[in-house]
Amino acid sequence: VAADQHASAQGVSERITLYDGRKAPVRLHILIVGCGLGGLAAAHCLAQAGHKITLIEAAHAIGEVGAGIQVTPNVTRLLRRWGLGDAVERIAVRPEAIVFRRYATGERVGYTKWGENMEEFGASYYHIHRADFHKLLFDLAAPSMTLRLKSTVVAVDPEAPSLTLASGEVIHGDLILGADGVKSYVQQVVLGRVNPAQPTGDAAYRAIIPTSVMLEDPELRPFVETPEMTAWMGPGTHLMAYNIRAKKEFNMVLLHPDDGSVESWTAEGSAEKMREDFKDYEPRVQKLLQHVNSTLKWRLMDRQPLEKWVHSSGRVALLGDACHPMLPYRAQGAAMAIEDAAVLGNLFSRLTHPSQIGPLLHAYEGLRLRRTANTQASSRLNQRIFHLPDGPAQEARDADMRAAMELEFR
Ligand code: FAD
Repeated sequence: VAADQHASAQGVSERITLYDGRKAPVRLHILIVGCGLGGLAAAHCLAQAGHKITLIEAAHAIGEVGAGIQVTPNVTRLLRRWGLGDAVERIAVRPEAIVFRRYATGERVGYTKWGENMEEFGASYYHIHRADFHKLLFDLAAPSMTLRLKSTVVAVDPEAPSLTLASGEVIHGDLILGADGVKSYVQQVVLGRVNPAQPTGDAAYRAIIPTSVMLEDPELRPFVETPEMTAWMGPGTHLMAYNIRAKKEFNMVLLHPDDGSVESWTAEGSAEKMREDFKDYEPRVQKLLQHVNSTLKWRLMDRQPLEKWVHSSGRVALLGDACHPMLPYRAQGAAMAIEDAAVLGNLFSRLTHPSQIGPLLHAYEGLRLRRTANTQASSRLNQRIFHLPDGPAQEARDADMRAAMELEFR
């Protein structure tokens, strides 16, 4: 009661009933900057924890780029907990296995059965179109948040706390979360310095082709009929390919040395240049690439783990790519952002007094920083493993993978 009275005096208390019948004694107004996958997941989790959410997004419309995303069991477990299990099953493709191949010959060097086996980790592995995934999370979060589009945050006062939009409007809240991506402005506020993300030396072409053209070709048809995740590994390059949208579309991500691309989800790449960069890949890849008319190109950035995620005021914190951008070589960037959101939601469902905001944010940082730092590092390690030049190290890698594959088929 004392906590309620104190909170009420601060203007942040309003007893509300949560979906599971518990009472949330203190209701915060949380401002989340960025309507990406991380911001949306945070909006959902923190609204379920009983808080009022305003989500602020610079873009004029919500959405995601035309590309696929791998949704790993650590995420699907959360999606199921949030009641989205059936919806994911409807929009996603469940790969039966991951297959590693030599780039030039297509020889299979590694194979791990996925499919039902993934249930061992408590949930499935899925491949989804990004736009479908974004819509799924948006539809989940939308009823319990206020969305402000066309609203670029240009200043944050971490003590107030408040943020200022490009229009000059100032929005006050109790807590600000920066889910504003790899070029995060909120991160600068938290650290008190400019800390740009670093080029990783790699860039990605992304392309989708209709599987109807593949089904007409006996050599390409198996990639659709048996939906696996195929990874071709070459010197300094690799290619990940999988089915999305009820196997109607085939998504390809082509990783290669960066030769002057830009950091933008929407920058067009040259399909001709892409074919040239992957001309040493096996004939089936050449066939696949012949079907590509347009491609997106994205410079891959990451950064060293940050020294902190929480401003000294205890009222501003970060999540997702804003604090831990990583190479997509373990398919964990969005996964880590969604896990961040789940942890925030869990912690802030326990808030009984506004003075706990800072300690809970530090608890969040303590729970998350090491795990995401490890994931950043292991994503970098995969860059070295996947991209080994032809030679003894590559032969040793392939021998290890073949040995594991034999165990799989025993
Ligand atoms: P973002 O999606 O970048 O969202 C940030 C949002 O903030 C944007 O909407 C932006 O407009 C907004 N914003 C920025 N600044 C402001 C401002 N000042 N004011 C208001 N709004 C602002 N992850 C996986 O889990 N699985 C995968 O298979 C996978 N594959 C990938 C493949 C590639 C090639 C790449 C590049 C990444 C991949 N990732 C993958 C990583 C994943 O895409 C990202 O980690 C994830 O999208 C980050 O989400 P986010 O919400 O943190 O940031």
